[in-house]
Amino acid sequence: MTQRFLSHADLAALVAAHKRVIAPVRAKDDARQTDYLPIQALADAALGAALPRRSLKEYFLPPTEVLLSYRQTKEGVEIKEVPTQAQPQVILFASPCDAAALEVVDKVMDWQYRDELWFGRREATTIVGLLCSSMDSSCFCSAIGLGPDSPRGSDVLLTQVEGGYLAQVITPKGEALLAHCAATEASAAAVAQAETARKQAREKVENNAPAIPNEFGAWLEENFDHPAWKTMALRCHGCGACASVCPTCHCFDIVDEHDSSEEGVRRRNWDSCQTAKFTLQASGYNPRQSQSERFRQRIQHKFSIYPKRFGEILCTGCGRCCRVCAGGMNLPEILGGLIALAKKDQGESGQ
Ligand code: SF4
Ligand code: SF4
Repeated sequence: MTQRFLSHADLAALVAAHKRVIAPVRAKDDARQTDYLPIQALADAALGAALPRRSLKEYFLPPTEVLLSYRQTKEGVEIKEVPTQAQPQVILFASPCDAAALEVVDKVMDWQYRDELWFGRREATTIVGLLCSSMDSSCFCSAIGLGPDSPRGSDVLLTQVEGGYLAQVITPKGEALLAHCAATEASAAAVAQAETARKQAREKVENNAPAIPNEFGAWLEENFDHPAWKTMALRCHGCGACASVCPTCHCFDIVDEHDSSEEGVRRRNWDSCQTAKFTLQASGYNPRQSQSERFRQRIQHKFSIYPKRFGEILCTGCGRCCRVCAGGMNLPEILGGLIALAKKDQGESGQ
């Protein structure tokens, strides 16, 4: 991994040289909050502010999008698919938990069927991560095996140092991004400063939640009918906000919208396993009738089903689901409770 130094002016020039740059900016409705939005100049970005309210997911899987249009003719049905090529974009100051989430979701997007719209956008995007300094008590990236300095999913990872940034070049895409920029070799002082900043950042988040044990997924699977699911889910009212802000929740529904009796579009929209209608069948039967069953599904999918299938926990510990939940559901606390139950079981079975 090569390390370079970028001054603020170098980074400003890099932003100016690209047509489409997305970065955290102060939210118009609440200056304490940020959102990932297109910027025109580096000065528009909110450096080191709160983690953006929503993840980067919408830049790869929009909340709603047309997949194809169709038209009934005398000869049959004409189908026009949407182009899968995307316009180049740079994501600047991506949070490490959001950058990592993209790689985690890549697995399901290339499972059984390759989602060309997702990968068209992934290939057209260069991700410049930033050492996270805005962690709060809801963050638990370290418990997932990531961290505020994780390079996973970033093409370049920046750490703020005196006069600019230390840039760790992680992928050939990152190398290409910096090729035309005036970045210089990083000095020993800048490397040392960055290492201190990374260590301090890791220390801030490490005690927020216990590390997820390797055998946790198997315990969840074995304890599908554990009585704890019912009590743990009591505060969840099934609004789906947690899935909406989550960088790794990726479920969608597909509907056909008729513009007339002859033509229309096929569209996909974000969906969430937390809402009652997610599994409602046309017959009126719903295999997940209670909120505790829906809540259990979210935890089982993220910490047991997905890891079993793809070798990855479907969560990066960003903490958004805790911050947004009107019911006060707190994932690190919930995981801590479940891990304690798993450990108790292991103790009782003498393992
Ligand atoms: S956990 Fe919270 S945010 Fe998620 S569905 Fe339940 S009430 Fe809504
Ligand atoms: S489940 Fe919660 S903490 Fe994990 S990635 Fe999703 S929003 Fe973040």
